[in-house]
Amino acid sequence: MFTELEHYGHEQVILCSDPQVGLRAIIAIHDTTLGPALGGTRMWQYASDADALTDVLRLSRGMTYKAAVAGLNLGGGKAVILGDPHTQKTEMLFRSYGRFIESLRGRYITAEDVGTTVRDMEWIRMETQYVTGVGGEHGSGDPSPYTALGVFVGMKAAAKITFGTESLSGKRIAVQGAGNVARHLVGHLVKDGAQVTVTDIFEDKARALCEEYGVAYVEPEKIFDVECDIFSPNALGAVLNDATIPRLRCTIVAGGANNQLADEERHARMLAERGILYAPDYVINAGGLINVTSEIEQWSREQVLRKVESIYDTLLRIFRIASENGILTIEASNKIAEERIAQARHIHRTFIGSPTIRNR
Ligand code: NAD
Repeated sequence: MFTELEHYGHEQVILCSDPQVGLRAIIAIHDTTLGPALGGTRMWQYASDADALTDVLRLSRGMTYKAAVAGLNLGGGKAVILGDPHTQKTEMLFRSYGRFIESLRGRYITAEDVGTTVRDMEWIRMETQYVTGVGGEHGSGDPSPYTALGVFVGMKAAAKITFGTESLSGKRIAVQGAGNVARHLVGHLVKDGAQVTVTDIFEDKARALCEEYGVAYVEPEKIFDVECDIFSPNALGAVLNDATIPRLRCTIVAGGANNQLADEERHARMLAERGILYAPDYVINAGGLINVTSEIEQWSREQVLRKVESIYDTLLRIFRIASENGILTIEASNKIAEERIAQARHIHRTFIGSPTIRNR
């Protein structure tokens, strides 16, 4: 276990056990240099405890990089509750979990993720203030419109570099997934004049979206073979892998899904070798995190929109650094994240005792 922690560079991992209410959870705090570790709680029935640990370690590390590149004063964390989200949820399970979060005194702040809902966050809120994504006037609401806006402006940045114009008018875009992010994204794309093809494993869902916007449908397995300018993964992770990358017929990959590359280094390289520009997933999909952060930072809607739109400039910078240094775009974004964290660590050490973002 410690080898794995050292490999990913985690600060702390907390195992939460409360058999009386059926709670088994893992909270992973990856890095709090920039601020409290923020990241959602996933509820999932894992094949093994080891799988749950690996998942939470990878996800929490991803949050550190996402927040760092988005310029947020947040660290990276994530949590998993081991169990079936359809049958094992109770008020007391989430309240007990809330007590564990409270015991960390703000080092970790949670939010919704796969398998958890606003109601679950409200149960957690009964025991701790360190939770975002609750309903009502204090909540920031559904993050997916902001994620989709970030993906849209990110695609424009990729188009600017590749085609010399940021307009997506007439560009062919293959969208995998017809869920929350994809729905809002397709709205932006159609308004900009793009020719969109959509798929989803739930055909009805995809067809309803196609009907709403007058776009084309394709079967889920065929999406990788669609001749297009931009392939946009907005479903699950690991869709860019040994089997799919050789099939892609696009010049850009830009989408909202997390962990798109099955193997970060190897598959980013395969894309580059095929001449496909990859917009790093955690950079282009940071809009939702920016929106959740507004609950902590008390930003106005206008401030949130401005910050989400700045994903355009961030990606242009990443593409430039990658091209100037002959490195992969994912390497360029990792470098930006690591440098920002290292510099923050430096100033914290240099001015010990001065007020910092950590003890505001
Ligand atoms: P969602 O559950 O609403 O939509 C995902 C859709 O993908 C579902 O309709 C599902 O049926 C479909 N799908 C799953 N496997 C598929 C496959 N193999 N082929 C085609 N369709 C498939 O989720 P969402 O909120 O839209 O999020 C989409 C992705 O973006 C996820 O990877 C999520 O982690 C990531 N993400 C979302 C947000 C957000 O604000 N919601 C923020 C950051 C990242």
